[in-house]
Amino acid sequence: MSCMKCEKKAVGDLGLCKIHLVERRKYQMRMRKNRIKNKVCTGCNKPATIGKVRCEQCRLEDRRRYKTRYDAKKAAGLCVYEGCQLPTHGKAQCDKHMELQRKYIAKKRKQAKKGK
Ligand SMILES: [Zn+2]
Ligand SMILES: [Zn+2]
Ligand SMILES: [Zn+2]
Repeated sequence: MSCMKCEKKAVGDLGLCKIHLVERRKYQMRMRKNRIKNKVCTGCNKPATIGKVRCEQCRLEDRRRYKTRYDAKKAAGLCVYEGCQLPTHGKAQCDKHMELQRKYIAKKRKQAKKGK
C-alpha cells in the first residue's frame, strides 16, 4: 500500500508514509495547542472547563473510558499503568511500575521533608 498523499510506501495503519505521518502529528500538535490557547476542548468544539483542556462532558467521558480500561485490566491480572500489558502477580501494577511508584513516593516524601 502506498501513502494517501504521495507515492511513497505507507507505514502503520493510517495509510501514510513516514514523512506524512510526521506532518500529520505536527499538524495535530498545532491544532491541540491552538485549542488550548483558545480554551476549546481538545475532544470536541465546546468551550473547555476553566483551567482544563477538555470540556466537562469529555472529562466525564475520559474518566469513564479510563475506568472501564482500568477495571478490565485489573480483572485480567494486568498492570493498570497506561499502555502497560505486563502481568501483576496479584498486585495493582507490574514489578516495573510498582518500583517506579515506590521511587516516586519516596521522592515526594523527601521533598516534603525538605520543605519544612
Ligand atoms: Zn506521503
Ligand atoms: Zn469536549
Ligand atoms: Zn506496568
